[in-house]
Amino acid sequence: MSDKYDVIVIGAGPAGYVAAIKAAQLGFSVACIEKWTKKDGRPSLGGTCLNVGCIPSKALLESSHKYESTQHEMAEHGIALGDVSFDVSKMMTRKDQVVEQLTGGIAGLFKHNGVKHLFGKGKLLAGKKVEFAPQDGGAVQILDAGNVILATGSVPVEIPPAPLTPGKIVDSTGALEFTEVPKRLGVIGGGVIGLELGSVWSRLGADVVVFEAMDKFLAVADQQIAKESAKIFKKQGLDIRTSTLVSGTEIKGDDIHVTFKDGDGEKSEIFDKLIVAVGRRPYTDGCIASDSGVTMADRGFVHVDDFCQTSVPGVYAVGDLVRGPMLAHKGSEEGVMVAERIAGKPAQVNYDTVPSVIYTHPEVSWVGKTEEECKQDGVPYKTGSFPFAANGRALASNDSAGSVKVIAHADTDRVLGVHIVGPNSGDMIAQAVIAMEFGSSAEDLGTIMFAHPTVSEALHEAALAVDGHALHIA
Ligand code: FAD
Repeated sequence: MSDKYDVIVIGAGPAGYVAAIKAAQLGFSVACIEKWTKKDGRPSLGGTCLNVGCIPSKALLESSHKYESTQHEMAEHGIALGDVSFDVSKMMTRKDQVVEQLTGGIAGLFKHNGVKHLFGKGKLLAGKKVEFAPQDGGAVQILDAGNVILATGSVPVEIPPAPLTPGKIVDSTGALEFTEVPKRLGVIGGGVIGLELGSVWSRLGADVVVFEAMDKFLAVADQQIAKESAKIFKKQGLDIRTSTLVSGTEIKGDDIHVTFKDGDGEKSEIFDKLIVAVGRRPYTDGCIASDSGVTMADRGFVHVDDFCQTSVPGVYAVGDLVRGPMLAHKGSEEGVMVAERIAGKPAQVNYDTVPSVIYTHPEVSWVGKTEEECKQDGVPYKTGSFPFAANGRALASNDSAGSVKVIAHADTDRVLGVHIVGPNSGDMIAQAVIAMEFGSSAEDLGTIMFAHPTVSEALHEAALAVDGHALHIA
């Protein structure tokens, strides 16, 4: 085995594996060190996203949504189904098969592009050297790298009031592996992951309470859309409690006693499972030697410049390990940028147009500035909104909850942000990202022709509404 590579990537999540493939496509010799091991001991590529994150959660969201739609929606379409049942173990098997297919797909892409997967742990040393400890216990090797890309990702944050207890108090990974539907499920954290996992189990019949310490629901989102989303989720049965801080847990037999403080003081409720979904922290444990020269930023992130270069020239860090939203597509784009910059190309990532999506039903999606951020930054703005209740396709589909909001600069009309809660908004938000990337004005978006009948017409109408001229609303 060669012990020198043009590029060594540590970590094969969506940031690292994409960086590795892109670097190989640009003609570099590339090794990607990844330690992820499946339960049966086989190596697995794809990181958190493919193994225990984006993909398995979406598989379960889809299965649970399909079941849920048989409970109410089908009848409204005039379809009578009789008794419908589901099998959690089959849902889990399907989820695992999707994960298997996609992680295997990355292995295939590595082979196709000539990326060497080194199965084991990597550690950045001084002088752009990398220590590789093979997973099979083989001799530790010191590899030379022209460039190193750190992509070791993140892990769930644990909190003292709710220590993880297998099968009872679990993190997001444990919540993707329940063997039966909990009767009463507590979720600590009303963020993206808490809402998605809470929705899965709520749709399958669990009584779900979401504890959110902050006084605002979805504080990072535009508050008009966040409030509308909260109403929709509450109607679906999610019991979302803001300003509610979990202060302790105790397991007694099968019960988990959860103590929390809300506006009325301290209370306790019993659950049979509890998901801790309070965020993720960058993972650097044993990945970076103290004399490597790489410096750290706040909260455990690796310090990087705008182009993901660390304090050591030729050493880069991408994905959840560095500042910015912890999202797979953000990490992947950073991986591409870094590979291209190593090849001398003037690549960059536009952090103003990173889309965020919560894959509930309806989906909550946004890009760019919220109204609150415009106010805080003193940016003059105007807004236009349009409800899906006035959109023909949404009504025809019986999926008309939610709305689109466009925020544009008051003087230039340039689109500053788009915020949606509504059907397929995770796909629709891409239209807003493209518009913003091309510097579109709200008028441009209102002038462009959208196919009829599509839910995307709601974006067109919201853009027209910015200047008060939406067509299909009184
Ligand atoms: P990771 O995916 O965490 O990968 C890092 C890899 O590095 C891991 O495979 C790890 O084993 C490896 N590694 C670490 N240290 C070493 C070492 N020393 N040697 C070798 N290998 C090492 N994001 C979205 O954009 N959309 C979603 O829908 C979405 N859903 C999510 C749902 C859940 C339940 C969770 C938990 C996360 C979700 N995310 C989603 C977030 C997304 O998974 C992360 O943002 C993304 O995986 C980060 O990519 P990364 O490559 O930076 O790190």
